[in-house]
Amino acid sequence: MKPTPFDYSAPRSVPEALALLADEDRDPKVVAGGQSLIPMLGMRLARPGLLVDITRIPGLDELTVDASGALHIGAAVRQARAAADPLVRHGWPLLAAALGHIGHPQIRARGTVCGSLVHHDPAAELPTAALALEARFVIAGPSGTRTVAAEDFFVATFQTAVEPDELLTEVVVPPCRGGWAFEELTRRHGDFATIGVAVLVERAEDAVRAARVVFCGAGPTPVRLPAAEAALTGTAFGPAALDAARDAVLTHLAPSGDVHATAAYRREAAAHLLVRACTTAWERTR
Ligand SMILES: Cc1cc2nc3c(=O)[nH]c(=O)nc-3n(C[C@H](O)[C@H](O)[C@H](O)COP(=O)(O)OP(=O)(O)OC[C@H]3O[C@@H](n4cnc5c(N)ncnc54)[C@H](O)[C@@H]3O)c2cc1C
Repeated sequence: MKPTPFDYSAPRSVPEALALLADEDRDPKVVAGGQSLIPMLGMRLARPGLLVDITRIPGLDELTVDASGALHIGAAVRQARAAADPLVRHGWPLLAAALGHIGHPQIRARGTVCGSLVHHDPAAELPTAALALEARFVIAGPSGTRTVAAEDFFVATFQTAVEPDELLTEVVVPPCRGGWAFEELTRRHGDFATIGVAVLVERAEDAVRAARVVFCGAGPTPVRLPAAEAALTGTAFGPAALDAARDAVLTHLAPSGDVHATAAYRREAAAHLLVRACTTAWERTR
């Protein structure tokens, strides 16, 4: 199929973009990398009258670290660029690993980090990494700019806190501490995750001081599993802690079944991936 007719505009400032997005009559839509939106237009799952291309707005293509050590990724930063950036690779390796699981090089060359976060496919890697890393989202709109925590950003499948007349201008990721791992199961290389997990572990001697466990493909949003985090935290790392974390997944994770996998298969695979990810993350605390 072909898209329905639409106008195209490439504003040069955020206020200009917001003015275009305020034009309700044309049902405008932001386009960034186009790697999710353009296929949706082709299938007529979206029928905007105006595309607002934000990739030419000066400043939105910046990737910087601020004085507090937080990483700022602007809305026009492509996934491939973020994945290859030495700052990201050394300071936020969990994010770099998650980026490496997205589709294929061609997709990552065009797709943006922020576009994936706003699109919010529940099987996508970046929303899960963002929740694990406690990212913050800077959203510009008609009444000013607001910052939303990751816990409040992902609302439902394909829905975030960003309203139709708003723009996600950047994602801010606090410094990443401790060991990390990102594991996922896919039918073929480059597919969305059937199930996946991001793990962060902080160490105190031989014990886990803190753990963060977030799954993708396990619900309508990234799923944080406090029961698994509690099973790991405060214990000496080893088989008993891993068994407890595994049991927490089997007891508390409630993924859905679909054409790709049954719910039971997803849950069992999630438990297996968690054990593997925790082991890797712990090794990386040394
Ligand atoms: C073959 C193929 C395989 C893929 N595999 C994967 C995969 O394995 N894992 C994965 O996570 N993704 C995958 N993707 C999706 C890819 O990561 C997209 O790049 C991403 O989902 C959207 O980013 P984008 O910049 O292309 O956004 P676009 O397609 O331009 O936009 C996506 C949506 O977000 C909105 N939007 C974009 N940026 C902003 C912003 N700054 N503010 C407000 N709204 C905004 C748009 O209006 C639109 O609704 C795949 C895509 C393809 C085509």
